[in-house]
Amino acid sequence: MAKQSPQAIISELIEIFCNPEKIDLLEDTVAKTVLYTRPSSKWSWSNRFLMAMQKSDDARGHRQWQEVGRNVLDWTKQVTIIAPLIKKVEDKKTGEPKEIVTGFRSIGLYDIKNTYGKELGDTEIKQQPPLIEVAKAWGINVRYEVVSGCWGYYSPDKKEIVLGTSDQQTFFHELAHVAHEKIDGKLSHEPEKYAQQEAIDQLSCAVLARMYGVKVDKYTFDYIGMYAKKNTADKVGRMCLRVADKVSQVLDLILQTKTEIILEVEN
Ligand SMILES: [Zn+2]
Repeated sequence: MAKQSPQAIISELIEIFCNPEKIDLLEDTVAKTVLYTRPSSKWSWSNRFLMAMQKSDDARGHRQWQEVGRNVLDWTKQVTIIAPLIKKVEDKKTGEPKEIVTGFRSIGLYDIKNTYGKELGDTEIKQQPPLIEVAKAWGINVRYEVVSGCWGYYSPDKKEIVLGTSDQQTFFHELAHVAHEKIDGKLSHEPEKYAQQEAIDQLSCAVLARMYGVKVDKYTFDYIGMYAKKNTADKVGRMCLRVADKVSQVLDLILQTKTEIILEVEN
């Protein structure tokens, strides 16, 4: 862990975020990676639309399913997408070979719900994120599932954190939500408060990331910028200044809990 205190890192980040000249120098040392990639993420927009229309969010051919250790349940239930038929011809003008579309054919695929076998992504979770013991001490279950449209979420009702990635920074963000809820009570859906919550939790996440040796500074700046309605130094910096005190409380609670767990183990 870094020797800097959380408060020192908060100040350092705010100092950067407030300074327009430093924004271009912001960097991340880790990128978010989804637990497993769906072949459909590379498809054309129209085929992804077709798949969604057929109520599927992960459709693959049977061989593709076999490669990840799953088998098709019902062969008659297919999700259909369209592929162009491509032919190589010689360009009459230049003499160069080129590809032309001569028509379309439909391809029958199978939705993930229509398959059984190995859990997806299981093999890719190499290690649990740091501070996971804090979530456990608070009675929060952490499980992995790829959810379309978000990297992870915290469900206060189910008392669980769901992660679509094994990256520690996503876990840190959700853990900050839990800590924040412990301090301020149930989280709000009112837009302004919601934006502030997200700023608190993402700034907490950026500090924790630095304490564990990675940087998610640029991502954090852009993320808070999204909620501050503009990712300019002026808006983001001001938003961070407003929430700095709460961020400090959130971090203290998380780190204190970790220390208590360590002491408990030692005694
Ligand atoms: Zn959030």
